[in-house]
Amino acid sequence: MFETLSDKLSSALRNLRGVGKLSEDNMADALKEVRTALLSADVHFKVARQFVDKVREEVIGKDVLKGVTPGQQIVKIIHDELVKLLGEGETQLNPKKPLKVMMVGLHGSGKTTSSAKLGRLLKKRDYANPHLVACDVYRPAAIDQLEILAKANDLGFTCDRDSKDVPAIGRAGLAAAKAAGSELIIFDTAGRLQIDHDLIEEVKRLRDTVQPDEVILVADGALGQEAVNVAKAFHDALNLTGLILTKLDGDARGGAALSIKSITGVPIKFVGLGEKVEEFEVFHPDRLASRILG
Ligand code: GDP
Repeated sequence: MFETLSDKLSSALRNLRGVGKLSEDNMADALKEVRTALLSADVHFKVARQFVDKVREEVIGKDVLKGVTPGQQIVKIIHDELVKLLGEGETQLNPKKPLKVMMVGLHGSGKTTSSAKLGRLLKKRDYANPHLVACDVYRPAAIDQLEILAKANDLGFTCDRDSKDVPAIGRAGLAAAKAAGSELIIFDTAGRLQIDHDLIEEVKRLRDTVQPDEVILVADGALGQEAVNVAKAFHDALNLTGLILTKLDGDARGGAALSIKSITGVPIKFVGLGEKVEEFEVFHPDRLASRILG
């Protein structure tokens, strides 16, 4: 993940790491390279500019710490700014139990897969009897897919193949989950190829009925800036509480992961790293920042 960005940033910083004294000149060159590296990873230009400005400000305002070279210090400052950009300290789920999570997103973003992945992960983290509710009433294949995933991962499951009444399905799911003593209920909603009025209205009706504690957008990280635009539109309509960024295993250049929090204000909470159900992780801004900086 993010190998290209990581390579570019390390080469931008390589010359600085050993530097004994930072000068306007060597810093300006390095920061220019950092900005270029971010832009070529498809990071939003405003985010890249603000990032570099912030780092410059920090470097200028700081006394050099004892025991580290100025070069090491700038690397540390960049690390800390990356962590902030990625949403430091904001990746926790609402601690409520039972926890109701509504998953939204465009068709093909990985919503159904991520619903099962999330159920499986949280089951291991002491949420009793996670329950999946199939609210995508337009694609029978999506219901089948969710059912297969629920069975394979020992998760509860509710659907109604004869109904298009999404709020009623949501209510039935809640009742079944309650009867099973479930501490986690995940609603997998329908997606379209683009965000449209009907889709949003239907999701809002479900939201008003089941009153989720978390509204999570599943966005395809490989889409880069487009994923950021999608997140913005869903957040405007639905007040998201978090994001799952999927397909970061592919050739995702990292732009979406690095821009999405600062452009939308919505933190990434989990990431999808492959098609398999176990290829899914809690998002850790500090770990990603360290990985990016190599
Ligand atoms: P939905 O239409 O949003 O419900 O999307 P699906 O869950 O059906 O996923 C669409 C495709 O993306 C499927 O082929 C999934 O296996 C695949 N997919 C989902 N998440 C990931 C991921 O993190 N990495 C990769 N490589 N593929 C994923």
